[in-house]
Amino acid sequence: MLFATLAAGEGLDVLNPATQQRIATVKAYSTEEIARLIEAADAARGAWAARTAKERSVVLRRWYDLVMSHQEDLAALVTAESGKPLAEARGEVAYGAAFIEWFAEEGKRAYGDTIPTFANGKRVLTIRQGVGTCAAITPWNFPVAMITRKVAPALAAGCAMVVKPAEATPLSALALETLAHEAGVPAEVFRVVPTDDPAGVGTLFCTHPQVRKLSFTGSTRVGQLLMEQAAANVTRLSLELGGNAPFIVFDDADLDAAVDGLMASKFRNAGQTCVCANRILVQDSVHDAFLAKVQERVAALVVGDGAQPGTTIGPLINEAAVKKVGALVADACEAGARVLAGGGKSPVGTGFFEPTILADVTPDMAVASAEIFGPVVPVIRFADEPQAIRIANDTPYGLAAYFYARDVGRIWRVMEALEYGMVGVNDGIISTEVAPFGGIKHSGLGREGSRHGLDEYLELKYCLMGGI
Ligand code: ADP
Repeated sequence: MLFATLAAGEGLDVLNPATQQRIATVKAYSTEEIARLIEAADAARGAWAARTAKERSVVLRRWYDLVMSHQEDLAALVTAESGKPLAEARGEVAYGAAFIEWFAEEGKRAYGDTIPTFANGKRVLTIRQGVGTCAAITPWNFPVAMITRKVAPALAAGCAMVVKPAEATPLSALALETLAHEAGVPAEVFRVVPTDDPAGVGTLFCTHPQVRKLSFTGSTRVGQLLMEQAAANVTRLSLELGGNAPFIVFDDADLDAAVDGLMASKFRNAGQTCVCANRILVQDSVHDAFLAKVQERVAALVVGDGAQPGTTIGPLINEAAVKKVGALVADACEAGARVLAGGGKSPVGTGFFEPTILADVTPDMAVASAEIFGPVVPVIRFADEPQAIRIANDTPYGLAAYFYARDVGRIWRVMEALEYGMVGVNDGIISTEVAPFGGIKHSGLGREGSRHGLDEYLELKYCLMGGI
């Protein structure tokens, strides 16, 4: 049993976005209950931190093995609660598990420094120690990976962690918790606490004196709210917020590779990722040829229930999301955009939106400034490199950017000029546990994955030893 389920209405009801049917009901924790769990976590973390890094690593490695041996069950849960096609859900479980494997190893390398001294009789050194008890708030679009990329480095660093998963997707989170405890993570040290009061729990996480660090992935609006509240307790923050990724196709690009990259970047999870291409900038001379190729590929997408074999585009997370995407498309059309494919709700069911291509989009349209979070390709034409860079950077966001070009001088210029935390050059998929994921500007603070992801959960202590 990977999680306990209650009767309908007795807690948080979890719906399948493809059918709108209830699939489970889980306990909804109150802020009072969560405060007690934070205190229990804080009491238990000393013993966890006192284990050697290798001992923690062995437990984490066991957790990784358990997650991978339950890959099919976890993937089925992810598809049922988030709607993404099963093949993508399997991929997410492997991707999510990879963070556990990575940090099981990386935790052993939390090195300090010895620094050449400034005075005889004194020695200067640094050590790295876990920040203490941590909290996390995660979104519904990657119900497994957004948790493991926070929890694994926290546990590896000797911290305790209390996670509030998204209301829509608590099931895979609870399953991960069960497997972590089975692997040997002490129950108090890692807790998953679904709730129907996200705002109250956000405030609790920011203001409880024993929470030393909060890691949040979600909207910029909520991230800003948390940052304001965290000021009270000077709580350390990692924030992975919204994006508005440009995807630029220059006239020297390999167009077929660019189309492959766009399909991967745009349509993963039906366009519901913070690194999905959000604005497609195409240079004049290749504009029509590129669009013709994209049209062909979009026509081959299969919209349907993610649990059905062959589905490539699942439902959006809920009907409000379908409405929001529809309104952005309608607004763009009113302002002069041309629909080359799709354009509205899909006949497959209430939660589905048709894969859509919009040509003649201009940067001032809402579809080019809002995070779409749906399967819509808005195409903006540009004349030259400086114009493309200007349009690409003209946003408060700075998470991921992509471009396709072959000229090596151009590649360096554009890579350096893009004001983003991550740049995909001739590639549409950049996420991996080995690289630092994160944004600048309104897209957030801090990095997840790679050796930098461990630093987010470590404090650097400087020690001066005198009397030598
Ligand atoms: P999305 O639009 O992708 O759902 P949100 O930022 O609303 O993005 O949600 C991401 C996470 O933030 C979810 O776990 C959600 O429950 C949580 N959340 C929503 N509102 C608040 C809030 N006021 N304080 C803290 N967490 C919140």
